[in-house]
Amino acid sequence: MRITVIGTGYVGLVTGTCFAESGNDVICVDIDAEKVARLREGISPIYEPGLSELLVRNIKEGRLQFTTDLTEGMTDSALVFIAVGTPQGDDGAANLNALWAVTDQIRETATEPKIVVVKSTVPVGTNAKVLARLNKESKHVHRAASNPEFLKEGYAIEDFMKPDRVVVGVREPEVAKVLEELHRPFLRTNHPFLSMTPESSEMTKYVANCMLATKISFINEMANLCEALQADINDVRMGIGHDRRIGFQFLHPGVGYGGSCFPKDVRAMIALAEQKGLPAQMLRGVDQINEDQKHVLFHKLTEIFGKEMSGRTIAIWGLAFKPRTDDIREAPSLVLIDHLLKAGAKVRVHDPEARENVKEIYGSRLTYCDRAYGTLEGADALAIVTEWNEFRNPNFDVMKALLERPVIVDGRNLYELDQMRELGFTYHSIGRATVN
Ligand code: NAD
Repeated sequence: MRITVIGTGYVGLVTGTCFAESGNDVICVDIDAEKVARLREGISPIYEPGLSELLVRNIKEGRLQFTTDLTEGMTDSALVFIAVGTPQGDDGAANLNALWAVTDQIRETATEPKIVVVKSTVPVGTNAKVLARLNKESKHVHRAASNPEFLKEGYAIEDFMKPDRVVVGVREPEVAKVLEELHRPFLRTNHPFLSMTPESSEMTKYVANCMLATKISFINEMANLCEALQADINDVRMGIGHDRRIGFQFLHPGVGYGGSCFPKDVRAMIALAEQKGLPAQMLRGVDQINEDQKHVLFHKLTEIFGKEMSGRTIAIWGLAFKPRTDDIREAPSLVLIDHLLKAGAKVRVHDPEARENVKEIYGSRLTYCDRAYGTLEGADALAIVTEWNEFRNPNFDVMKALLERPVIVDGRNLYELDQMRELGFTYHSIGRATVN
């Protein structure tokens, strides 16, 4: 099959590469000329485990190409996937400017009928609008489908190749058939291909993200209560998680969710509810709890050092919004950095992948360290924001020797309280007793 994928971000690039890997001829289109030039050379603009190898192999085999020219990109492709960004607009709703620009361009330049598949996360009802817009005074009768993406950054290739399920929203059974065939190589393990209306498909994506965000805000609220009530959230997690109706997944207390999806998708759902005169009370709570949680590490640091921090140096481990990615969109680390700079502290940071992205925002205002231990030199405290594996089992003696004071504020509950006590650290974590 020849396939066009428009947008080469986390979703588009993974989609295009994985479709090429399963034997299709894929051409990816992006308006970012620099990105396209690098991709042609096999250089991935993002860090995603396993992606570079697949990218290079499929380019070499001639199955994967890149262009900035949509007309060229669509030649001979019956299937056109749209994977452009749909960021949050000023009113909280999704900003669909890129989607409309691409839709109009497809209508204006297509030389034959296309099946246009929207992979971007879009408000319920958008697919119907895409269809109407594609066919408005068009020479061809195009069809539109919805195929939301559920991949997780950091595991994107794995998730795409072995999805828990594939969801499509279609109007015609033939379109479902084409999409099922395309996804068959990825569904060998009997995971379902679920065909529904475009509206249900669009809604499925939002409901999935809202559910996951709700779990995170729920456990964070419970963790904060645990701290106030002298209970331990880790013990409570065990106590509830063994109930099979509850389980353990996605119930890890922390410093709030970030990334390009949960925050904007929760707010887009609230905006959709508002348009229908519905209050979305729970989702408002989820969003607010999350915003508050992003400040929690700074509050813990002020408990130790006071609000005025000039002369203090704080080390930060972890900048990406989660491990195994370089993505810092809406990352809790940025909220902490802003607070610390405002309070006059010097900030030294380390992240295995996201340092360059953070440098683009803060430039020389931070000290960027290649190595995690180097961050600690002369620091009054370490704040752990992202739970990269390499932070889980460090050499505490080395840490203690490098830190000016043995203080850790841990936003991911990586260490045991008893161990911290024995080692003589002051240790603040989330939803557990403070070790002094
Ligand atoms: P991104 O910002 O990483 O990438 C978007 C790409 O689209 C960019 O490369 C940009 O240059 C390109 N683009 C913008 N306008 C264009 C145009 N007119 N023509 C061609 N290219 C254009 O976004 P992303 O993270 O890949 O997300 C894409 C969509 O997928 C969003 O709707 C998002 O909500 C959804 N989604 C994202 C994830 C994720 O983990 N990132 C997961 C599931 C779904």
